[in-house]
Amino acid sequence: YHAKLERDRISTFAPEFDINTVDRLQLLADLRTALSETALHVEYQPQVDLASGRTVGVEALVRWHHPERGLVRPDEFVPLAENSGLILELTTFVLDQALRDLAAWRARGHEVRMAVNLSARHLSDLALPRLVAEAIERHGVPATSLVLEVTETGILSDPIRADLVIRELRQLGVAIAIDDYGTGNASLNYLRRLQIDELKIDRSFVSNIQADDHDLIIVRSTIELALALGLRVVAEGVEDAPTAVALAELGPVIAQGFHLGRPAPAATVLQALEGSTLTPAERG
Ligand code: C2E
Ligand code: MG
Ligand code: MG
Ligand code: MG
Repeated sequence: YHAKLERDRISTFAPEFDINTVDRLQLLADLRTALSETALHVEYQPQVDLASGRTVGVEALVRWHHPERGLVRPDEFVPLAENSGLILELTTFVLDQALRDLAAWRARGHEVRMAVNLSARHLSDLALPRLVAEAIERHGVPATSLVLEVTETGILSDPIRADLVIRELRQLGVAIAIDDYGTGNASLNYLRRLQIDELKIDRSFVSNIQADDHDLIIVRSTIELALALGLRVVAEGVEDAPTAVALAELGPVIAQGFHLGRPAPAATVLQALEGSTLTPAERG
């Protein structure tokens, strides 16, 4: 019921709703308060290896429960944070919470990967790798269990620095994923030049492969290309079983989407992980 309530609230706060400047300033003031009081929290969406059916990772997605507006979408307040100098604080909060939860899950034997979204801005911040290294150390998780998702836009704004930052992060052992792959510019050029580990195919290509031959062809050849380059492939926006089945036929793909699990609080995710790894005897 709670989840439904949240979804309804989200729909009343659609991104196309054009909030005016005064409203935006108010929201920004509220965001400052939210950060200082940590009224933000993090939910996790499973990433499932289609071949084995196992949850091999989760993506951390930030949530803000506004006292009056209800759940404000990250699409709405992340840009606000980016344009107001609050983004580093936001990222640090999410990274810290995500690695804390990951450490707890790992302590119970669940060796999943944790994916955290980086703002485009961070790719030109030479201090970022150190911040990430400190967070990893603070929580005692292996660097190789962390995936940082970046977008093509983030790389485009300052490719030389982005390349430097990405190299340093990878030297720590952290994996880099290109998020929303296919929606940005000059994708092939990045694939050629950058050191990355994972491609996340944008849901706008994935969600319709059942009905649209063009989409299917694009997704199939993107998967082939990525695999040939030695990259891991995550397909976003898998909303139904037929799409998952079709994807599984295209190769060893990791899938993420409402069909496999909606973003959920840490406790719910842990429950799901425990359920999926109990031996038959333990299940009784
Ligand atoms: P994203 O990184 O591409 O995250 C995936 C978004 O797609 C999430 O929306 C998720 O809830 C949604 N989604 C997952 N499966 C499905 C599906 O099957 N169908 C549909 N229609 N949607 C699906 P969310 O949580 O609203 O986040 C939106 C965007 O906000 C994210 O897109 C990401 O770019 C950004 N974001 C979220 N959390 C953070 C964060 O902690 N830091 C930063 N910098 N950005 C964040
Ligand atoms: Mg993402
Ligand atoms: Mg994405
Ligand atoms: Mg996306």
